[in-house]
Amino acid sequence: MTRRSPDSCPGVLRLHEAADGPLARIRVPGGRLEPAQLQALADAARDVGDGNLELTSRGNIQLRQVRDADELAARLDAVGLLPSRSHERVRNIVASPLSGRVGGWADVTGLASHLDERLQADPALAELPGRVLFTLDDGRGDVTTLRGDIGIHAVADDEFALVLAGVDTGVRVNASEAVDVMLAAAHGFLDLRGDDAAGQWRLHEIDGAVESIIETLEHSPVTEPLKFGATHQIPIGWLDQDNGLVSLGAGVPLGTLPARTAEFLAAIDRPIFLTPWRSIVITDLDEGPAETVVRVLAPMGMVFDANSPWLEVSACAGQPGCAKALSDVRGEADAAVESGRVQVGAPKSVAGEDIPADEVEVAGRQHWSGCERRCGRPPGPVTDVIATGPSTYRVDPPTT
Ligand code: SF4
Repeated sequence: MTRRSPDSCPGVLRLHEAADGPLARIRVPGGRLEPAQLQALADAARDVGDGNLELTSRGNIQLRQVRDADELAARLDAVGLLPSRSHERVRNIVASPLSGRVGGWADVTGLASHLDERLQADPALAELPGRVLFTLDDGRGDVTTLRGDIGIHAVADDEFALVLAGVDTGVRVNASEAVDVMLAAAHGFLDLRGDDAAGQWRLHEIDGAVESIIETLEHSPVTEPLKFGATHQIPIGWLDQDNGLVSLGAGVPLGTLPARTAEFLAAIDRPIFLTPWRSIVITDLDEGPAETVVRVLAPMGMVFDANSPWLEVSACAGQPGCAKALSDVRGEADAAVESGRVQVGAPKSVAGEDIPADEVEVAGRQHWSGCERRCGRPPGPVTDVIATGPSTYRVDPPTT
C-alpha cells in the first residue's frame, strides 16, 4: 500500500489543524508520567488548551484547541516531555503498564526507557514515520496484540520474542540484546521504505517486509513462532503489587481527562502510567492512601469498577473536532452509556442502517466512529457503531 500524502502525524512542534482548532500530540514513551509532568500537562490543558487531556490508543496525550504552541512546547520541555525536537514524533513506545509491579515474565519498564534514549540518539531514525509503533510486552500478552510494528514479547525471565508487524518472528533475544534488535529492525524498515516520504507508514503495508528484515539481522529464527491472540485486559481497580504496595487501575470515560482531575492525580505524588486502553494506573500506593484515592476520584468520574459499561466504549473525535465526522459521536456514545443502552457482556446489538442515535443499543466492546475511517478502533472483536448522518448510525457486528 502506498499513499500520496506525506505522514502528517501531529506532535508538539507540528500541530494538526483539527476542525475545532490546533491539536498537539505529546508522546509518553512507556506511558509513564511523573507527578510534575502530569501537573504541567494539567496546567497546559487549562491555560493553552480546551481544559482536557485526551488519552490516545497508544498511551499518549493530546491537547485540543491549542492557543499558543510555543508556550506549550516551552512548558513540556521544562518537565522533560519534549526531550528531542528531531525525534519527538517517533517516540511511540507502548509497554505493559503493570510490568515490574504486578505479574508478567519480565520487567520491561527499563527497556522502554532505554529504547527511547537509543531512538533519540540515532539521527537516521528521526525519519521513521510518526505512525510506527514499538511494543514491549512483559509476557502477559496485553500490548503485543495491539499489532505494533516492532516489538519484543517476554517468553521467559530473560528471553524475548522479536515481534514484527504483530507477528512472532521466531527470533529470540535476551534483555541485553532486545533494544539493539528492535533498532536494527527499525533501520531495516527505513531501508525497505526508501527515500519516498509519501510511501508506506507501517511495516505490514510492505509486502514481504518481515522476511526481508529478518534476513538483515544478526539473529535468525530459532523456534516455531508463537501465536498471540487478541486480549482485552484493561487493568481496573485494586491491584496488589508483587512488593506489597498497591496499584489502582482507573478507566477514563471516552479517554477525556479533565485538567482538574489530572491535578488530583498529580497530587497523589506517585508515578502514573497511561495505558493504550485510554485508562491509567496509579502505582506504588500504601493501602490506606489507595482507599482514599478511590473515595476521592470515583465521584470525579474515574472508573474503578471492572464491570462498568464505560470500559466497553471507545469513540473517535467526531464532531466538532473532526471535519469528516457526520455526527457528535462522543456525545451520543456518552448518552448511550448514561441511559443504560451500553451493556456489559457478550456482543449483542440491534443491527440495521440509519438507526437513530437514541435507539442504538449494543452490548460488549464497541467503537463509535464519525465516518468509515474508524480512527482509534481497538483491535480484536469490537462492534462498530458508525455514523451514517447527523445522529444516525449503522451497527456492524464484531469483527477482529
Ligand atoms: S473516524 Fe472519521 S470522523 Fe472519526 S476522527 Fe476519524 S476521520 Fe474523523
